[in-house]
Amino acid sequence: MDLRQGLLRWFRQHARDLPWRHDRTPYRVWVSELMLQQTQVKTALPYYQRWMERFPDLRTLAKAPLSDVLKAWEGLGYYRRARFLHEGAKHIQEHLGGHFPNTREKLLELPGIGPYTSAAIASLAFGLPHAVLDGNVERVLLRLTATRESTDSPGLKARLSRWADGFFDPKHPGPFNEAMMELGATVCTPVQPSCTRCPFAAGCLARRQMCAHEIPVPPVKVPAKKISRDFQVAFHGGRVLLAQPEESGRWQGLWTFPLLPSYSESRFHAGKSAPKSRSRPLPSENATPFLVRHSIVQERHESRFHPDFHRGETRSGCRWHSLKRARSLPMPIAHRKAFEHFFPD
Ligand code: SF4
Repeated sequence: MDLRQGLLRWFRQHARDLPWRHDRTPYRVWVSELMLQQTQVKTALPYYQRWMERFPDLRTLAKAPLSDVLKAWEGLGYYRRARFLHEGAKHIQEHLGGHFPNTREKLLELPGIGPYTSAAIASLAFGLPHAVLDGNVERVLLRLTATRESTDSPGLKARLSRWADGFFDPKHPGPFNEAMMELGATVCTPVQPSCTRCPFAAGCLARRQMCAHEIPVPPVKVPAKKISRDFQVAFHGGRVLLAQPEESGRWQGLWTFPLLPSYSESRFHAGKSAPKSRSRPLPSENATPFLVRHSIVQERHESRFHPDFHRGETRSGCRWHSLKRARSLPMPIAHRKAFEHFFPD
């Protein structure tokens, strides 16, 4: 049996039962693909289910206010993806008569859709012959060919793309693409691939050369940038002060605690110590700040939230909200954690 047939047979027997694999409309595929970028399946599952209850179709999503869309995404991170879905839904409703683009070229015109997502939607939702190339597929191809080159080496991406096209099964575009991604996610995993369960075992060069664990070769590590910020948690008269959403940038559309100006964006690199001097004292110096650490791609964030429950000063670009209202507003996850810490439900 050829490798591709073996893969499809393996997929029929072992595919996980995931909600986006049922009732495969372009809209459902689009939402799942954006949700699964940078997010693991088990994290995305409850979000996907809630999203489909709240925004079951394009029309509902297009009509929803951005704050509702961001609220439904709260905690998943990379909020640009939610904004892309919202903008895309509005674009399809307003300019394409509610008809989802049905070719790869037209899909590429939607916000936030690049080569991978367009190939995924075109093949999974419309059965068009486009091979996908995501991190899982790349790893499988690199191991099949025992390629020990660093993943950032020049020209490798283009070669991988040619291999993916050459290996692709145009008679079964959707199932083939999904099977390759599923194999990478569940069998040919980054650490300890389960070669004995793999439909490619007989033809895989990395397995034959016993070097699967060395592939892919990661690029030389750039030290993560450390970003330290201090925020004010002002609470007065039953209301909390929040900074209005940015008009652009990572937190566009999200409410946050106000940044403390004396501390704004004290950036320093890993290995060096944080700046010690500061120009103004923090509010409520003796109250304990709440610390949240999290990572985003090449950045390590350290956010300190300082309670300030004695003054009711308004700051420009900020608004006071009741706790009930603040609870319903979309916030970045670090700020939501701080909110829940200081104002538990
Ligand atoms: Fe990956 Fe092993 Fe399968 Fe090769 S045989 S593709 S290394 S799981």
